[in-house]
Amino acid sequence: MNSSSPKTSFSLFGVLCATFGHDYIVTRKVTNHINEYKCTHCGREVTDGEGGKLETLTQNIKDVNTNVAAFFQKKMRRISTNQI
Ligand SMILES: [Zn+2]
Repeated sequence: MNSSSPKTSFSLFGVLCATFGHDYIVTRKVTNHINEYKCTHCGREVTDGEGGKLETLTQNIKDVNTNVAAFFQKKMRRISTNQI
């Protein structure tokens, strides 16, 4: 299925997103402050970066987020058991 070229519809979505903005949904919660998002129109993936700006979600950042999420969940579990 890789041989098909979805270029026409892709650029149409690109125009939609450029006009109306991306329609992001949260695909993964990394921490309380960092989420990963995906645009339901063009499939663009972004994540919360430094200073609250959205950054393009590269494979490298995805790997970092995976580590951060694992660390964060461990930490959260410890905090919640301490609080209770
Ligand atoms: Zn988009």
